[in-house]
Amino acid sequence: MKEKNKDIGINDVLLEVRTYIHNEDSLKIVEHAANYASEKHAGQFRRSGEPYLIHLINVAYILAQLRCGPKTVAAGFLHDVIEDCGITKEELANEFDEEIADIVEAVTKIGTLRYKGKDDPEYQAANHRKIFIAMAKDVRVILVKLCDRLHNMRTLEYQPEASQKRIAAETLDVYAPIAHRLGISAIKNELEDLCFYYLNREEYHHIAHLVEIKKVERDAAVSHMIDEISDMLHQNHLQFRIFGRSKHLYSIYNKMVKKHKRFDQILDLLAIRIVTQTELNCYEILGYIHAKYKPIPGRLKDYIAMPKPNMYQSLHTTIIGDDGKIFEVQIRTEEMDSIAENGVAAHWRYKEGTNYNAKVEQKEIEDKLGWFKNFALYSEEESASGSASEYMATLQHDVFEANVYVMTPMGRVIDLPSGATPIDFAYRVHTDVGHTCVGAVVNGVMVPLNTELKTGDVIEIKTRKGTEPSEDWLQFVKTNQAKNKIRNFLQKKETEKRSEMIDLGEKYLRDELTRRGFDPKEYMDKKKLENIYHDFQVGTYVDFMYGIAVKSINPTVVTEKLTRQKARVANFEEQAINRIANRENVKHTPTKTGIIVPGIDSMKMSIAQCCMPVYGDPIKGFITKGEGVKVHRAMCPNIAHTNARLIDVKWDDDNTDRTYETEIIITARDRQFLATDVLTVISQFKAPIDKLSADVNHELLISTLRLTIRVRDVEHLNTIMANIRKVDSVVEVDRGCH
Ligand code: MN
Repeated sequence: MKEKNKDIGINDVLLEVRTYIHNEDSLKIVEHAANYASEKHAGQFRRSGEPYLIHLINVAYILAQLRCGPKTVAAGFLHDVIEDCGITKEELANEFDEEIADIVEAVTKIGTLRYKGKDDPEYQAANHRKIFIAMAKDVRVILVKLCDRLHNMRTLEYQPEASQKRIAAETLDVYAPIAHRLGISAIKNELEDLCFYYLNREEYHHIAHLVEIKKVERDAAVSHMIDEISDMLHQNHLQFRIFGRSKHLYSIYNKMVKKHKRFDQILDLLAIRIVTQTELNCYEILGYIHAKYKPIPGRLKDYIAMPKPNMYQSLHTTIIGDDGKIFEVQIRTEEMDSIAENGVAAHWRYKEGTNYNAKVEQKEIEDKLGWFKNFALYSEEESASGSASEYMATLQHDVFEANVYVMTPMGRVIDLPSGATPIDFAYRVHTDVGHTCVGAVVNGVMVPLNTELKTGDVIEIKTRKGTEPSEDWLQFVKTNQAKNKIRNFLQKKETEKRSEMIDLGEKYLRDELTRRGFDPKEYMDKKKLENIYHDFQVGTYVDFMYGIAVKSINPTVVTEKLTRQKARVANFEEQAINRIANRENVKHTPTKTGIIVPGIDSMKMSIAQCCMPVYGDPIKGFITKGEGVKVHRAMCPNIAHTNARLIDVKWDDDNTDRTYETEIIITARDRQFLATDVLTVISQFKAPIDKLSADVNHELLISTLRLTIRVRDVEHLNTIMANIRKVDSVVEVDRGCH
């Protein structure tokens, strides 16, 4: 790749600036910045071996080519002094002014976070969010950053290969889309081709070769067509410039890869641009061309009447030449042409004699670039909440990949990603319009809310007060913005529902206490309740009451525990316990339960049916009246207050071939096929199911599934429970305990 403007100096920048800035004070600012940078960076060199100043000269030069104002060009010279020369923002503000210092500081902040590649998405996203927020505040920051990146890309050959790939990948992911969105296609195209070269050299050369082999032939065809059109337009006394243009390699590659086109199927390889004076001239020229050449249907695009969201305006048509060759023709005014090349920079090109106001310009950009407003809005909303990667996904998807342009009845153009629906549109118009949307009229016809919108559609949203977003919408909306808004709404509702659940839990418990003759006021005391949370495996009041409401906690058991003051222990059993505890024999015989009582050869043992321990659970033996030892899980509430009757037991590690029956309780938002999905998970892990019961609370739409399954051990059980938790709409998975 050839490097552009290789040998330019400070004077070249000053000369370039003088073509559009004449005010001596303004020129002095630029010159001062150049000299200051030259002095501060003295003795610093780039990897290429060149003085560091060369980089700054180039960045300032590109900014001057974009016709940026004196302060922006100055910031181009100064953009690395904070980072590389240890100059503070205050020093810079004193030497120049607050505005320049602000721009340089913002550029520096973006630069200090380094792109670490796709493997570190959160970090990368956080970095990119910074870039976008900076851009939403002052677009000049991003102009400097883009020019900085462009020059770094032009000189990327001096970097080690790993850095080349990393920098090129970031440029293609982040900077090229920004340039595109700001309409600066000159920079976007150059960045893309440079990235293409470093990321996929083989394909790059392949396409460059394809372009090269037929070049002479294509050039001849284009210049023949140019002559014909020129003659025709001259005869009609029109003023115009006409020239052939070539597509940049990356866009050819993209068409071949993304649209599965062969090289010879790409229709706009033979391309002609006509630049004229007025909008009316554009349509006139189009008329003459269509009168003479056959246009290909469906290829006429009027971006003058309907500009692209990055302000691009032009007429596009594709025509068939005399010998059957296909040409793409673009027709536009000079003003449109410069905006097509330099976008934001052209539209807000520096105008002498007017008072520059960054805030006013920023506001104008928001008004003019439809997407910029959304995007500034995301930056505000999302910087306060939500993860950086969520924010990035939203931007990337909703803003950068938007390619369907639709309109409000008032003619406001809104850009959406392909596949977007009226709901996406509604949320883009306003959150409340989205929330209360009940219908959509597209081009005068009422359509279903999941209809895919097409470019040019005019959409009117019908709303009704008091309606709410439906969870079903999540199935078909395309923008992350709509998804997030719907989810937030549903979550908020869920929280409200939760507080209703707590009320319900309290009511159930109060009723139970009253029914059994206890005073709820005395027992429903938070301190008293806290003491028994651990018996039900909950940690908070909210979880406890929620558990009662969804019936995973039985208020009868709670009442018993709350009101039982003393554990009743019979004396004769105490003696038995002491006798057992004092034995020291360590020999044991495996029992059919697979459980050993250390120190005892044989003992009548059974597994407790309340908590159903499985191999690997911490366990305790409970000495019953006449039924030997019942083995409970150590945390089983039924043995919590009976320390004296407990003995140590342990699993027999030599007897692990058996399976254990145990119960799990699944709480989920009720939906179709919930049980089927849960059973599928369980069968995947080869756990036989002995019992299944389901209970739906229709009022709260909560399902409770109780399953008795057979597992090998606690690990097996935990794996199954963990996988059930992943099933859609499942809220909680617990082990049962009666
Ligand atoms: Mn730099």
